[in-house]
Amino acid sequence: MTHALQTSRLVKRFGGFVATSDVTLNVAAGARHALIGPNGAGKTTLINLLTGFLEPTEGTVILKGDDVTRLSQHQRVKRGLARTFQINRLFADMTVLESVTLAVCERRGIGARWWNPVGSHVEAIDEAAALLQQLRLIDVAHHLTKSLAYGRQRLIEIALALAAKPSVLLLDEPAAGVPTSESRELFETIAQLPREVTILLIEHDMDLVFRFADRISVLVGGALVAEDTPDMIARDKRVKEVYLGEALHG
Ligand code: ADP
Ligand code: MG
Repeated sequence: MTHALQTSRLVKRFGGFVATSDVTLNVAAGARHALIGPNGAGKTTLINLLTGFLEPTEGTVILKGDDVTRLSQHQRVKRGLARTFQINRLFADMTVLESVTLAVCERRGIGARWWNPVGSHVEAIDEAAALLQQLRLIDVAHHLTKSLAYGRQRLIEIALALAAKPSVLLLDEPAAGVPTSESRELFETIAQLPREVTILLIEHDMDLVFRFADRISVLVGGALVAEDTPDMIARDKRVKEVYLGEALHG
């Protein structure tokens, strides 16, 4: 099996506190892989180690077979590892199409003169429009990003990440703060992204996780306690005890 993303014996300590404990994770190419676990389990810390936002105390991060542990966030993005931008990265006074075109221009290294629609800029605009089509945002291409419902703003963040043409997309609770009425559509749109993009998702809503994922890893107290198919995870006694039981019964 080809792996898009792996970690080997990853450890992160904050002073004496172990936030990531000996994590060896394998994410298959094309997977819809979910990372679940209770609050404080170390999910976000693990994502931060993968992107290079944090440096591990021990262990390695491997992207498409290459050790990227010492690479910067930017270098990892260039090699195909993207995460969603935070909401405050959206440019409030730009339209959806302008924002995504700007991100495409950035990847193409053609600067931010997107408003001058000649040559390569036209191609960048076309590429951005195709991304909006993929994320079902084309009908609001000319709306200001700030005017959109929160769920659709999260889709813009995903479009901005996809503008880097990643092979792996990391999503840390993309539905956080999104009303339930919008989160279903948000996940349906994420689920139909092309399989060339491997997705590692953190999500606490188990309905969404079990509908979306083909593989689930369970993190507790910084350590991986299980990794399996959704069916097997749902039946795993230990997982029920440490996490699902808690999620189901408060
Ligand atoms: P999760 O995303 O699973 O809720 P986090 O990765 O955010 O968990 O946090 C895991 C643990 O690591 C928590 O106990 C948190 O307080 C601790 N932690 C996270 N970042 C830091 C930091 N920069 N310094 C100290 N402790 C941290
Ligand atoms: Mg978190």
